[in-house]
Amino acid sequence: MEDQGRRPVDPAADPEERRRQRAIRRREEMIARRKRVRMMKLLLAAAGVLLIVILAGVGIGRAVKAGKKTGAPETAKTDVKGQVTAGDGQEGQDGGGDASGGEAQEGSGEEGGEQDASAGQDAAGGASAGSKLEQAKLLAAGYDYDAAIALLEGDDSPEAAKALEEFHSAKASCVAADVTTIPHVFFHSLINDDRAFNAELVGADRVRQNNAAMTTTVEFDAMIEDMYEAGYVLVGLDDMCVKTTGEDGVVHVAQNNALMLPPGKKPFVLSVDDLSYYHSYGIGTQGYATKMVVDENGKPKCVYTNENGETSVGDYDVVPRLDTFIENHPDFAYRGARGTVAMTGYNGVFGYRTNNYYKDINDPHLDLDQIQWLQEHPDFNWEQDCADAKAVADAMKAEGWTFASHTYGHLNAEGADLEHLMADHERWKTVNSPILGETDKIIFAFGADIGIVGAYTADNAKFQYFKSEGFNIFCNVDGNIGWTEFGDTFMRTGRVALDGFTMYQAMSEDGVVHSVYAADYEQLGIHDVASFFNQYRPTPIQSE
Ligand SMILES: [Zn+2]
Repeated sequence: MEDQGRRPVDPAADPEERRRQRAIRRREEMIARRKRVRMMKLLLAAAGVLLIVILAGVGIGRAVKAGKKTGAPETAKTDVKGQVTAGDGQEGQDGGGDASGGEAQEGSGEEGGEQDASAGQDAAGGASAGSKLEQAKLLAAGYDYDAAIALLEGDDSPEAAKALEEFHSAKASCVAADVTTIPHVFFHSLINDDRAFNAELVGADRVRQNNAAMTTTVEFDAMIEDMYEAGYVLVGLDDMCVKTTGEDGVVHVAQNNALMLPPGKKPFVLSVDDLSYYHSYGIGTQGYATKMVVDENGKPKCVYTNENGETSVGDYDVVPRLDTFIENHPDFAYRGARGTVAMTGYNGVFGYRTNNYYKDINDPHLDLDQIQWLQEHPDFNWEQDCADAKAVADAMKAEGWTFASHTYGHLNAEGADLEHLMADHERWKTVNSPILGETDKIIFAFGADIGIVGAYTADNAKFQYFKSEGFNIFCNVDGNIGWTEFGDTFMRTGRVALDGFTMYQAMSEDGVVHSVYAADYEQLGIHDVASFFNQYRPTPIQSE
């Protein structure tokens, strides 16, 4: 038998279980927040009614109508998928390009109430049942029917009985996904304004790169919305496989044949490359965010400076933008899954200059961009940048994001020889592991790979090296959407970029690879690229 001599990995270290726990915690927080908002509205409504009564009593008839209108509480909405979304006015902030929505929505002045809310849950029996029900519905919305069912165990209210029936029937209707055909899409950092395409401002070379390899916030939002409408559900790379560790310590990787989704729902995987805000991204001059931060709610957000020099914190890149989308559409993520972020280390991470070479401006490894940056930032504190970056990484992990190596120096793993790859990976571990932690995923830069199909074998020295360093999941860029190969000890997936080049190819019949990308976008449910394609992009767009 295939599984002989293997034992399952320690359940405490099981990422699935950890993610489930995190999802539960997150949902508890969300529910507590919504409860506070509702309570506030009820109080306001009660105050309104009281006012009406008083006014009516004094005999000012006309004031009654107006008071009723403003005092009416908003009702909770139930959308077509059956999950409850609180009617707290947070919808409709998907406004293209205006990324400040995500920031504004959090700041509704309800800090410091977490403990009160959970204490109230225990004290008031009725409220407790209600919130448990809501919590269970959120779990079910994220396809974790078992957890939802377990949560309502012992609750014999008619509402719970009805919900349980729904969960059981939804669970029974689910079908196992074919994990060998799951599309894997990826993005670079998002562009927030049109400076990126203005050669007079940023130079022709940057325009060429921004145009080919990048996506704007408006384009990103449109594509994610289309994929959601098409029934796509975000799953993690770790959801695609089952890992078991043999007696010899070798990790074996098999297909997950129990990735269960309702009929009509289609899994996809997402990754983000190069989340470092490199010096080449212009640091506030080309429309990119400049760094990531953790906001007052513990959420990963981005700092961005616009054309007018105004700086704000909000959803200015893939990570917070997708988090906000999933907060509003919990059925877009399978059990709280998020994307995988492919990290280099040479310019630091998340906009922090965490590479230890930055500690000394005379370090011979520094290039001219790095030296110039240090000269412009005389109060740079390396330890502080490392601490801030680690806080961002931890906040991202809490949301469900995972990290991959993208090699330290953005190497072409196909062209580089083994010794170079080994030295490079040592650097990755030195500068990135203390901040990002361990990873068993590598997403090769330049879409390169270390072997053709079927060539991750015992005599492939590069594969053997990476495997010995703990890597189990390997990603390249592949022309065939949804291409995945399972070996005994690895999973390898091909990715498709949703960027300027592929968008242009998909929408332009004279594009050199039009048919390939038109088919990919069609499969992803993104039917009309031209309708959201940024009009300031110079065309035609050539491959980088
Ligand atoms: Zn890259």
